[in-house]
Amino acid sequence: MKLPNYVSGEWIEGAGAGDPLVDPVTGEELARISSQGIDVDGAIQYARSHGGPALQKSNYAERAGLLAKIADVLTANRDEYFRISLLNQGANQADASFDVDGAIYTIKYYAKIGRALADKKILKEGTEIPLSKTNVFSGQHFLMPEKGAAIFINAFNFPAWGFCEKAAPALLSGVPIVIKPASPTAWLTQRMVEDIVKAGILPDGSISVLCGSARDLLDHVRESDSISFTGSASTATGIRSHANVLRRSVRVNIEADSINSAILGPDAAPGSDIFDLLVKEVVREMTLKAGQKCTAIRRVLVPRQHMQTAGEAIAAKLASLTVGNPRNPEVKVGPVVNKAQQAACLDGLKKLKQECSVLFGGDEGFQPLDADAEKSAFVQPTLLASKNGVGAKFVHDVEVFGPAAALVPYDSTADLIAIARRGMGSLVASIFSNDADFVREVVLGTGDLHGRLLVVDSSVGSQHTGHGNVMPSCLHGGPGRAGGGEELAALRAVLFYHRRFVVQGPPSRLGDLAAISADSSILYS
Ligand code: NAP
Repeated sequence: MKLPNYVSGEWIEGAGAGDPLVDPVTGEELARISSQGIDVDGAIQYARSHGGPALQKSNYAERAGLLAKIADVLTANRDEYFRISLLNQGANQADASFDVDGAIYTIKYYAKIGRALADKKILKEGTEIPLSKTNVFSGQHFLMPEKGAAIFINAFNFPAWGFCEKAAPALLSGVPIVIKPASPTAWLTQRMVEDIVKAGILPDGSISVLCGSARDLLDHVRESDSISFTGSASTATGIRSHANVLRRSVRVNIEADSINSAILGPDAAPGSDIFDLLVKEVVREMTLKAGQKCTAIRRVLVPRQHMQTAGEAIAAKLASLTVGNPRNPEVKVGPVVNKAQQAACLDGLKKLKQECSVLFGGDEGFQPLDADAEKSAFVQPTLLASKNGVGAKFVHDVEVFGPAAALVPYDSTADLIAIARRGMGSLVASIFSNDADFVREVVLGTGDLHGRLLVVDSSVGSQHTGHGNVMPSCLHGGPGRAGGGEELAALRAVLFYHRRFVVQGPPSRLGDLAAISADSSILYS
């Protein structure tokens, strides 16, 4: 079976044999994908010329209504998405839910909050600025949906959520979307697009999916388009510096990899509720989706005197989790996505082992339950302990994109801040402490290099939303190594798909435009 691409309003199979999609538990081939021979330039032009104008005939509230219909279609087909997630990612119910239910929730969320933009066509920013002594000439800033296409280049680990968290604000803005899912898990995205297309919800040209290599995609983007990329920092660098992207100043949002931290406060001694909450969260982050989350905890920053106890507590919990074929109900931790990813994880672990001791796991010959170690792509959950803090060589740089984390000792709050900052820009850090002064100092010392800081004390307990869980109402992204991008944050996400401009003219003309504008202050409410 070769999965067809959906471009220029048609389902078209790519040429050649294509690349296989595999079951990471059995190694069996499931389907093939190919983008060879597809007219990528024509596909983007079709989105611009058909999808954009049709979407922008409607207003924001009407497009929020389209999102609600998409959410209904995705909800109706949820079981099929779980089936594909199991086959193509080895995802158990919890893993698949994180991606699929997260996707549906995000679309529903935008369907709901998008109605606040009402029957308007553009956004008005601020108030009129007088530019003449007699008030006959003024200025007014507006934001208009871009007239190009939104190009999504996505990572393999969130084929559902990664697509929907970008699609929701783009479609709400009236911008047609062209999705290039990551090859290894393209099936789920392709299937969701198929369901949306079959349901006839969106105007022709509003949605396209290109499975397989991106090929010459970036050669065809224009100044009116935007690129939203999620993936590794190295691919991100290539996209950001692509000659055509640079020449045409194409707007680019990058969500890249990140060495995230969980921080145990000096007050959170072993035996305390805070200590237990951190241990629980580290184990959850290491094992959910087999640690294949951009937001997962990679470094656990622990007061030096608690290193041993923290290590033992986390290792004991990891030891209680069965790793193997997710079709077996005893299994709690599944595989990574494919052999290449397994090899990348083992390679990264080799580097980390040069400066870390292994507290749990790390066995390359590890036997998963109900799976053939030769054919499958498992990585044993691995907990390491770094001997060095801020001076460590690999632990702050090497992202093992799998079920692995390293404890890192710190000696003072200043030392801890230096270690957290050594991630050189991260998506998230979580702080587990009841000490208000410590929390304030850490937030002020690290906030500029993190997209999100999660603070857990005894008053929050287990009611926090999760270190690795991205809420559509809050910012997702991070500076520096994490890509410098910004996504979600409720209606603020639509800003990426709008272009700011100022109109200088008679107040009556500005008033005409203001009448069809929603006040952008609503984006921040
Ligand atoms: P990747 O190898 O960088 O690939 C990401 C996407 O880029 C894929 O769709 C890939 O297509 C495409 N791509 C590769 N080369 C390209 C090129 N020259 N031009 C245009 N597109 C190109 O990343 P991945 O392995 O899929 O994902 C894992 C990484 O993503 C991890 O490092 C993780 O931290 C990061 N991630 C970050 C976030 C976040 O929100 N910050 C979320 C999830 C994952 P092919 O698959 O066809 O090669």
